[in-house]
Amino acid sequence: MISYITRYTDLSSNRFLLHPPPMQNELLSSWLIRVALAHQTMPWSFMNMHFPEYKNIIFSRDVDIWAPDEFIEKLAWKSGLQASDILNLTLRSYEGYLLERVRSNGQNFFIAPIISRKRRNIGYGQKYCPICLKEHPVYFKKEWRLTFYTVCLEHKVYMLNRCPNCESSVTLYKFKHDKGFVQCYGCGWHLSQVGSLMTASDEDIARVSRLMKILDDGYVLIGGKPVYSVAFFQVLHQIVKIVKHFDLVEFEEIDEIIGEAEKVVFNLDVWIGKLLEHPKICPSHLMQDLKLVPYFYYSVLSYILENRFK
Ligand SMILES: [Zn+2]
Ligand SMILES: [Zn+2]
Repeated sequence: MISYITRYTDLSSNRFLLHPPPMQNELLSSWLIRVALAHQTMPWSFMNMHFPEYKNIIFSRDVDIWAPDEFIEKLAWKSGLQASDILNLTLRSYEGYLLERVRSNGQNFFIAPIISRKRRNIGYGQKYCPICLKEHPVYFKKEWRLTFYTVCLEHKVYMLNRCPNCESSVTLYKFKHDKGFVQCYGCGWHLSQVGSLMTASDEDIARVSRLMKILDDGYVLIGGKPVYSVAFFQVLHQIVKIVKHFDLVEFEEIDEIIGEAEKVVFNLDVWIGKLLEHPKICPSHLMQDLKLVPYFYYSVLSYILENRFK
């Protein structure tokens, strides 16, 4: 029986009695919920008792991004894990691979935001694969928060981002009764129920695999030269913005947009010229908002622009 605590006990200086080990690529929020449930306590109450200094904050923010160092240190002490292992559960662990810095305020390229209001998420940033959620122990994975991770590479199906029964967003810490946390808070639908899953196309599977490999490797070869993955994703994001803004794809679906942008980034010398033939795209759009322009991109742009008017 899971307890809904009404009287809070300050457990700030206590260690966790039970600490299920994090699973591979598990999200911090998922692990925190599993720790709370191991103690037969609802996650929100459990975190308030152990972290009164963050009362009502941990799940009302996007803890997978927000988790500050002091919180991670205290979690390490409470659980007996290394702080680095806990940091690795957060989306901050993508720093230096996906982005230079993951910001707790504002947008992060390719990380889908979780927007929490009144103890539920109103955004659709938390995706899931129902087949993965049949596994034991059940948990949510970090890559499920990446906007380009639209296909489960294990099961080759499209990821879902809402309850198929009532369309509610996924709110991990909120569930109604003792069926565990893998259920829709709105209607109780168990998220591991397969419902209407769609098999992913070979093209989408291949693209998601390529992007995940770049993220894992920390670099990619473009034109035979290594490019730092952060620079690659920065330019990919820049082209995604252009593809979206100028409606360069027929359907505004994320797979199609990222697929088109990826094609451009891998063949800049061909595609930059084509983009500039568009009546509304100017060279300034290609650089807009880029604080630092990655060299592999800058060198192609400057060559094309210099030769364009000759
Ligand atoms: Zn799966
Ligand atoms: Zn539902």
